[in-house]
Amino acid sequence: MPRLTLTFDNGPTPGITEQVLDVLEIHGIKTTFFCVGSDLLLPQRRELAQRAHAEGHWHGNHTLTHSIQFGMSDDPRLPEREIGQSQEILGDLAHPEKFFRPWGDGKISQNILSAEAIRYLTAGGYTLALWTAVPRDWEDPNGWVDRAMRQIRDQDWALMVVHDQDTGAMAHLDEFFERLAAAEIEVVQELPPHATPIRNGQVLTDLTHLYRADDAGAPQFQIGQSKTTGSDKS
Ligand SMILES: [Zn+2]
Repeated sequence: MPRLTLTFDNGPTPGITEQVLDVLEIHGIKTTFFCVGSDLLLPQRRELAQRAHAEGHWHGNHTLTHSIQFGMSDDPRLPEREIGQSQEILGDLAHPEKFFRPWGDGKISQNILSAEAIRYLTAGGYTLALWTAVPRDWEDPNGWVDRAMRQIRDQDWALMVVHDQDTGAMAHLDEFFERLAAAEIEVVQELPPHATPIRNGQVLTDLTHLYRADDAGAPQFQIGQSKTTGSDKS
C-alpha cells in the first residue's frame, strides 16, 4: 500500500489551523507542523501549536524568519540565527529528532543550504526534512487536491508539504483525505528516510544538490558522517 507523510508549513494560523486540526482528528491522521520560529512568539499561534502537540502532532523548525536561503548569504551567523534561535523558541514543542526544514520556496536547489548550515545541522544533531511533493496549494487553493493526487500517484512513500495558511486551500483538506482513502493511500506520521538526508546529525545521502561548494576546496560531507566523525572547520 502506498504511503503518504503529510506536513504543514508556515502555520499555525488562527482561524485556519483550528479547522485543520478538527479535520485531522475526524480522519485519525497525525502529521508534522513545520513552524517559523518568530511566529511562535505570538501567543495565539503558540497556543495553537500547543493544541496540535497535545493532539499527537509533531513540530519541526522551519527557520526563524522564513526570509533568506542559506546559499544566498555570506553571513556566518545565519545558521545559528535561522536554525538555532528558532529551535530555542520551539522549545518543548520540538520533536526530539530536531526536524529542520529550510525555506526553499517549494524548490530543492543548491541555495537551500550552505556548507555552514550543513555543519550546524550535523553538529547539533538535527534531522533535515525535505519533501517530495509540493502541490502549491497557496497558488491554487481550489485546484491543489488534483495536483496532489497526481504528484503522489507514482511514489511509494511521498512526503508532501501543504500550508495551514489563510489562502482557502485548507477548505479542501477533508476532500483530500476522502480521495486518499479511496485511492488506498495510507497516511503515516513518520518521515520517509529518502527525504531526510541528515538524520539526528548523521549524513545519510549525498548532499551536493543542496548547497554550493565554494571554489577554495569544497567541504565534503561523507555519508555516515556525524559530529563525532566529521572534520570541524569552523
Ligand atoms: Zn515555508
